[in-house]
Amino acid sequence: MTLKRRVTVLGATGSVGTCTLKLVADTRRTAAAEIEVEALTAHTNAEALAALAIEHQASFAAVADPGAGGRLAAALKGTGIAHGAGPEAVIEAAERDADWVMAAIVGAAGIKPLLAAAHRGADIAFANKECLVCAGEAVLAAVAEGGGRLLPVDSEHNAIFQVFDFARPETVRRIVLTASGGPFRERPRDTFDQVTAAEAVSHPNWSMGAKISVDSATMMNKGLERIEAAYLFPVPKERIEILVHPQSVIHSMVDYIDGSMLAQLGTPDMTIPIASALAWPERIPTGATPLDLAAVGRMTFEPPDEQRFPALRQARESLEAGGLMTAVLNAANEVAVAAFLKGQVRFTDIAALTDHCLQTVQPEGDPFTLEGVLEADRAARAAVKARALSL
Ligand code: NAD
Ligand code: MG
Repeated sequence: MTLKRRVTVLGATGSVGTCTLKLVADTRRTAAAEIEVEALTAHTNAEALAALAIEHQASFAAVADPGAGGRLAAALKGTGIAHGAGPEAVIEAAERDADWVMAAIVGAAGIKPLLAAAHRGADIAFANKECLVCAGEAVLAAVAEGGGRLLPVDSEHNAIFQVFDFARPETVRRIVLTASGGPFRERPRDTFDQVTAAEAVSHPNWSMGAKISVDSATMMNKGLERIEAAYLFPVPKERIEILVHPQSVIHSMVDYIDGSMLAQLGTPDMTIPIASALAWPERIPTGATPLDLAAVGRMTFEPPDEQRFPALRQARESLEAGGLMTAVLNAANEVAVAAFLKGQVRFTDIAALTDHCLQTVQPEGDPFTLEGVLEADRAARAAVKARALSL
């Protein structure tokens, strides 16, 4: 088989974005593949974006920050690569003619570009989980209208996607999302208020962007993933369970009614789920280290602890409440995590701020529309900012 793809990477300078581009370059070199790069985007790092656009011979590059447009233009001068700046330019990148779009922007900032790519029928390699958490209905509607596929990249969801029998969803008893437990699984809980940003972003098994690393430390990441799974897979939401598995070898499982449990295993390397989404339904070789189970030796499992990690409870309750409460949760968490990373609030304040927001913000908009989602998002951000000032 010759793999043919024209790819766009939204969030090209990030952890998932750079991993995707490295895989694209390696695949071009080592496999029968014709992969071209259409567009790349970033937030503010114009120089890094320009270097990637030149290296991968992209047709278009866009920075979301309008103030970074001059630097992008200077860095791309004489290359012939078209470019733009501002949120509209990122949407333009998504609208350009690529058949496979990696959605790897972090946070709700990725919603409009994602909807643009989905609407025109591109296959979406889906990493940007916050988009499904806050605008799940709108995203699924755009994908259905456009006729493209949603290919999960989050390692847990990619694992489930690989072993889920979509032709017989009624034979699935439950989905089991595995969780490493993050860096503070065993840290004394009475020291959580002293956790520094550096401690929170150093994950035991995965190397990732700052926001998702903090989410892993609070376990909000697993809570968001539960919500993500509820949109991605045709199972009742109460049948999505979380299981702590500190070695991160089993990336998730599907339990069938006959007692068979199917799992996907691999080394903790995002190259593997990204390659699965890039080649789907085929497979391509990657440079990922093959899993050596004898070297792993032992795998352990334990139930999640909602007392220790209140984010797990908040996400479960938001999903149960439905409507726009998951949008409120996501926005509150984004603002609280950003404040923690800037040293403005303590680690334990993150859960307190999201709790406050879930209790006080009651959005009345329509969860099926982008306007309803954005209104809930704005209200939650304002509530958390006001509360954080009083801490
Ligand atoms: P990152 O912080 O490393 O990269 C984020 C990217 O988004 C960068 O290119 C950045 O320039 C861009 N960006 C940030 N803010 C933006 C804005 N306002 N407008 C436009 N672009 C903006 O993050 P990451 O770790 O690569 O994660 C990206 C997404 O993938 C997140 O939603 C995360 O939850 C998800 N994810 C990541 C991993 C991982 O291993 N890193 C695994 C699973 C899922
Ligand atoms: Mg994950």
